[in-house]
Amino acid sequence: MAPCYALLLLLGQVPATDAALAAAAAVEPARLVRAITALQSVPGQSRVTGTPGAEAGREVVRAALAELGLTPERMPFAAHNKFARPGAEATRGVNLRVRLGPEGPGRVYVAHLDTKAAEDAAHAAEVGWRWDEDPAPGADDDGSGAAALLELARRLAPLAPCLARPVDLVWSDAEELAQVAPDGFMNAYGGEALAEMVPTEAALAVDMLLRARPYGYVLRLYTDGRWASDLLMQDILLAGAAVAPEVLLDPRVEPAFTWSDHGAFWAQGVGGVLLIEDDFHHPRYHREADAFDPADPYYDVGQVTAATRLLVAAAVLGAGVNPGCGAAAPPR
Ligand SMILES: [Zn+2]
Repeated sequence: MAPCYALLLLLGQVPATDAALAAAAAVEPARLVRAITALQSVPGQSRVTGTPGAEAGREVVRAALAELGLTPERMPFAAHNKFARPGAEATRGVNLRVRLGPEGPGRVYVAHLDTKAAEDAAHAAEVGWRWDEDPAPGADDDGSGAAALLELARRLAPLAPCLARPVDLVWSDAEELAQVAPDGFMNAYGGEALAEMVPTEAALAVDMLLRARPYGYVLRLYTDGRWASDLLMQDILLAGAAVAPEVLLDPRVEPAFTWSDHGAFWAQGVGGVLLIEDDFHHPRYHREADAFDPADPYYDVGQVTAATRLLVAAAVLGAGVNPGCGAAAPPR
């Protein structure tokens, strides 16, 4: 039997299939472009934690969610600004969270809103980047993931009353300020605050989607190999095969690859996966040049679009829809 028929048969067993395929097909690339553009164009063209641009970035998210009738919860936490002078006040980070579906622990989809354009204080001095006044547009890292989550919210919102399990969407903060602790996990960042505050079954971090390879779309998936992580991974792989077959998905079991919001969940023994472009160490990574222009082929919104379709399908398949609920889920 050809693999595609096997896949269709497999998908046919899942009650949420119709809703997942329809929602994924409705993803609009123009909305992704608008969101990435709005996020990189905030005052100062920077969303470094603690700057006015960071709050302006949250306002872009808040306004987009308000159009859907959704109000995100602000979840503040203390972060350490490694770029600030020694002895400076602690920095306040703010995660934004919106819940879709019923109450209880569910899956979290998280993208960090904050940015930087140097690795650390020494590197910032070397390249002449000042964290509190110079641009850090962060179009790829991680405006692309933040935009994908906004489109995910748009596609999930009409289904929310029918979702069988909860879905949390989170725009996190201070991911770029986190430092790796001796236990190998990052600390004092939005992912950690989130993992501590929100009971979660598994979390998918979506971090950098804009940079394709010359030979096509390639996204890596990192898991720590635990069961809860691999269940999430399976939904992503299935969704990818169904709605984004043009994306080559590269699953990797690497429990030491903790460097984004998913790592905070791994640290607690909670399931987590990181979805990230294959070429993330490109020359614009953590530089002022990480800006998006639709006419510039360096970045490819097609890859973000395909990844967002994948996210939408994975989220619907993972949450499930209650049979017979709403027009999106006819009884089987
Ligand atoms: Zn990032």
